[in-house]
Amino acid sequence: MNAALSPADRALCRELCCGVVRWQSALDWLVARKTGGRTQRADLLNLLRLGLYQLFWLDRVPDHAAVHETVELAKRLGFGSQAGFVNALLRGYTREADETHRALDVLKQTDPHTGWSHPDWLVARWQARLGVADTARLLEWNNTPPPTYARLNTIKTAAAGTLLDRWREEGVEYDFGRWDWIGENSVFRLKSHPSLATLGSFRDGGFYVQDPSTLLAVHLLDVQPSQTVLDLCAAPGGKTMLIAAQMQNQGRIVAVDVDAVRLKLVQENCARLGVTCVETVAVENFDAPPASFDRILIDAPCSNTGVMRRRVDLRWRIRAEEIARLVKTQLALLKKAAPLLKPGGSLVYSTCSLEMEENGALVRSFLAEHPNLALEAERELVPFKDGVDGAYVVRLRAS
Ligand code: SAM
Repeated sequence: MNAALSPADRALCRELCCGVVRWQSALDWLVARKTGGRTQRADLLNLLRLGLYQLFWLDRVPDHAAVHETVELAKRLGFGSQAGFVNALLRGYTREADETHRALDVLKQTDPHTGWSHPDWLVARWQARLGVADTARLLEWNNTPPPTYARLNTIKTAAAGTLLDRWREEGVEYDFGRWDWIGENSVFRLKSHPSLATLGSFRDGGFYVQDPSTLLAVHLLDVQPSQTVLDLCAAPGGKTMLIAAQMQNQGRIVAVDVDAVRLKLVQENCARLGVTCVETVAVENFDAPPASFDRILIDAPCSNTGVMRRRVDLRWRIRAEEIARLVKTQLALLKKAAPLLKPGGSLVYSTCSLEMEENGALVRSFLAEHPNLALEAERELVPFKDGVDGAYVVRLRAS
């Protein structure tokens, strides 16, 4: 994105990019019904998607402006001879707006993967488990732009009031939120704000941006200031930062990750948020004797199917066979971590996946081979029921 864009234009640019990726299948369906399904050049198709997205998903751009801009863009990009085709297709749709909206609504019922723009195998998988109605709620959730949430960093700012006063000066508008796994006045929904990087309250580490769902794992980990904690899949450190705050920046947190670049982000976050009790370790250098840790968090790499509203392109990258591969990694991580837990200690395993294979089913098969561990607490956050990103968290206790 062009750094010279005004905040409003930057927001529109973001909306257009994310919207076109989110609604790609439905947009392509609109193109196909006017072109007899003829294959379009990729860049021309993108222009048509951009124009159609503005016509049928955006209210704030008048139709004539959307058509005009798209046609001009076609000319500027060297599609001179095709500009007439772009104009005719878009203008044709402006004359059929009501019936097209109705057709798009019907498509969600008759062909949900196209109507809600998701891969068909994923829709079939969810329908088999959740049923048709709840799957539609999930698909709708995934296509809804997510809010930004900010967690108060108590290491830098003890009282929420201090941060809120600062936000008022900085032009940050927010709402209070309440979630049963999060203390009162510690996570806020940002309604509008200048670019975060320009805010002193952000640069000074007054808050960390994360969805409320991500805090459930730390809540169940239930750390104490003097403990030794292993965060085995730590980067970029969202949960590490909250663990540190809950330990009042005392004790010891070993933050491990396989990705050196992402591990640097943990260090940067520690520096910004004033966290000093964290030691970052690349996985190849990580070594610890058995029974070293009071608490272990495995925030495992997963299919991310619970966070699709935030990762708009994920649906087009995810593959069914990837889930089986991830399950192997997740099991290996559990097996690696289990011996490192002190007797009486707790291990929390979490994902942001909605898939049973990566969650409850995996944990149960793991527990069948580890009788020294007992399931103590388990919770799943389902986006369209709980109103936050999807998450699975389980706490195991070592005897
Ligand atoms: N806990 C992080 C947070 O709250 O910001 C998010 C962790 S993300 C879900 C999963 C992380 O696991 C990724 O950073 C990835 O690099 C890391 N990872 C993948 N395989 C790993 C392995 N075998 N050992 C350690 N880390 C691994």
